[in-house]
This record gives sequence, structure tokens and C-alpha cells, in this order.
Amino acid sequence: MSDDTSKALFERAKRVIPGGVNSPVRAFKSVGGDPVFVDRAEGAYLFGANGAKYIDFVGSWGPMILGHAHPAIVAAITSAAARGTSYGAPTELEIRFAEKVIALYPSMEMVRAVSSGTEATMAALRAARGYTGRDLVVKFEGCYHGHADFLLVKAGSGAMTLGIPDSAGVPARVAEGTVTLPYNDVPALEALFASRGKDIAAVILEPVVGNMGVVPPKPGFLEAIVSVCAKHGAVSIFDEVMTGCRVARGGMQERAGLRPDMTCLGKIVGGGMPLAAYGGKRAIMEKVAPLGPVYQAGTLSGNPIAVSAALALLERLDGAVYEKLEALGARLQAGFERSLAAAKVTGCVQRVGSMVTLFFTEGPVTDFASASKADTKRFAAWHRGLLQRGVYWPPSQFEAAFLSAAHTEADVDAAIAASEAALRD
Ligand SMILES: *Cc1c(COP(=O)(O)O)cnc(C)c1O
Repeated sequence: MSDDTSKALFERAKRVIPGGVNSPVRAFKSVGGDPVFVDRAEGAYLFGANGAKYIDFVGSWGPMILGHAHPAIVAAITSAAARGTSYGAPTELEIRFAEKVIALYPSMEMVRAVSSGTEATMAALRAARGYTGRDLVVKFEGCYHGHADFLLVKAGSGAMTLGIPDSAGVPARVAEGTVTLPYNDVPALEALFASRGKDIAAVILEPVVGNMGVVPPKPGFLEAIVSVCAKHGAVSIFDEVMTGCRVARGGMQERAGLRPDMTCLGKIVGGGMPLAAYGGKRAIMEKVAPLGPVYQAGTLSGNPIAVSAALALLERLDGAVYEKLEALGARLQAGFERSLAAAKVTGCVQRVGSMVTLFFTEGPVTDFASASKADTKRFAAWHRGLLQRGVYWPPSQFEAAFLSAAHTEADVDAAIAASEAALRD
């Protein structure tokens, strides 16, 4: 397979788009080589402009839980488009979307549709601040919540990969409104609330971190967040943009049996279109305009094509999908662990359902500090080895890979074989 096409496209892209990409995580800066330019995708496969076929473990960074170009979703999109692509006026589709989200996430008593995960977290925090009349926001090191100024403080995902967790261009004044704590550290959380509890508007977190690689919450961590917030009158916000409909239909809050005050959704919930949502307790959501004084708006919010795609996807997420994803995930994990042992390479595979990371460190990885110990050079070599063998894995040590219901055992076994070979390169 020739990489000349990707190289030529990348050179052209770099002249007109910063870094040649419209989102930094798509760059191959931390693993070397040129990004694969995509021509089309179908099921579990990506087809590069270079003519190569890849088994895709990125899935557009999460949304593609049923695989690419699912016929029912494509049909929903085409028939919606024929009825007009945007109205800027309400539709019944949006009610059905809100009702569906609320049915899956009972902690969300009211919900607002927006166009990206970034918008969802930004709006949720504005609502939380408006509701509490407090300013301070607490987040955890290595968690990524989109690119709003006050959330680019010790951020994960591309910011971590590129070594810029605290972005330039964020006023110091704004960053001061955000306090960061180590993930999974309950004593640190309690100590902060003991000293500044009256100033804290909200605590936001990824209930399973995907954006520093997969890091599950320790037993009791999520419970502590919900209860500490309740005790001090702060708003607990589960950012389930990645975990929502991924680790279970009802997200991590369903698995943990918890009801956070607010929830942010995106990625899967948008059916592969630019659609996200935030919501929570009625008393908080009633502060949002036009009901209340917290302003938030969007020309394309609740777009009819996006909502149609989302509804077609959400109605197909049944128990069988999650059983299959769990089985494939377990198979991939066991195979990767075998490949590490056979090659005598230090590493650990962390997984929750169909979210997977192979960290090149002994592990377990529980927070930003332990994730940072990973050997990113080793990861880069492994990533190149996978890519050469037709396996498209996230081009960063600090990202989650995703399985879809379109993957087969044969796809997973091919990835395991590629890993075995790549670790011996
Ligand atoms: C992807 C992600 C976001 C940002 O969503 P965008 O649609 O990229 O703006 C926010 N929070 C989490 C947990 C995410 O994984």
C-alpha cells in the first residue's frame, strides 16, 4: 500500500489548514508519519485515499458504535435532508430526541440539544454557575471536556498528547476559576471542599476517563463526587460525552447506579452527526433561557438531519449490542495481554466495555501522573506497526480505542496478530 497519496494530500492540507488537520488529535505528530486521509468508510473499515483498507479502532473518536454508514442511519439522514436541512424553528423530532435521552438517562429531567460536546460542557457549567451563584469549577487532571477556555486547564486528549495541557490564549484570570485535582483522589476532593466548599459551583469529570487513555474510576470515587457536591450545594456534572451510550446504554451512571445533578452527552448520542446535549435536574435546567436568566443558544441546535440520525441510532442500541461489545472487548484485551507477554514488553491493557487502551507502562494507570509514565516512543513504534498491517489505532498513547458492533472476531484477531508482530518489529 502506497503512502504517496496521503503524503501529497497532507502537504496540500498543511498550506491552508493549521497542521493540515481540523482537530489536533487527527495529526500523527506524536507517533510520526503522515495521517491517513480517508476516502470512505463502511462497517468496521476505513478506506484510505491511498487505496488501503484499515480495520478502524477509532470510530470517529467514539460515535460509530454501530459501524460506519449503517444503512438505517444513512436512510434516516437522506430522508430528513429531503425535507429541508435546517429550519431555525422547533420540530417534533427534537421532542422525540429529548424524550429518548431522558428515558435512557433518568437523571436528566430536562435536556437541551447543542452541536458539540464542547458546547454541552460549556453550557452545563454556565447553568451550574447561574444556578448556584458561585464561580469556581473543579476538574480533574487529564480529563478533557472540550476546548472552552476555563476547561483547558491540565486537559487530556490532544492537549496532553501535544504537551499543552494548559493552552496558550487562555487568560490567567479565567484559568484561576478552575481548580484541578488528581483523578481518583477522594481525600484531595474532600480537603478542597472543606476549605473552599462555599465557592464551588460544580465538579465536572469523565466518569470513566477516555482522554488520558482508559482510566476507570476506583470504587467509591463517583459516589464521593455526587455526595460531596450534594453536601456542599455544588452541582455534580458527569461528562458522558464519550462514555454515554458507550459503556452502557445509560452511560457510566447506569453502570454505577448514580444520579448526577447534570450530564453532558455527545459523540454516540448524535448518531455520527454534529449533535450533543446537556441536561439534568429540572431546577437547574429551568434557569436556562428563555425560562431563566442563563443564556445559551444555537442556530443549528437540534438540527433535523442530526436528530433523525440520532433517533435511528438510539433505537438500535439494545442489550445484544452491549453483550457483543463486551465479548469483543474481552477478546481484544486478552489477545493484547498475550502479545505483551510473548514479546516480554512492559505494558498494561485497560478497558471498560468497548473502550480500550494499551499503556506502555506497568500500571495500573489511575491518574495523570501514572499515565504520564507510559513510554510514548514505544507506543509510537507499536502504532506504526499496527498501521502497516492495516490496523487503524488512535495515534496517541493518551486516547481510548473503540470497538463497534460491526467488528467481528476475525477483525479483533487480526488486530491481535498485528500487535504480536508490531511488538517484535
Ligand atoms: C470528545 C469529548 C468532548 C468534546 O466533544 P466535541 O464534540 O469534540 O466538542 C467533551 N468531553 C469528553 C469527555 C469528550 O470525550
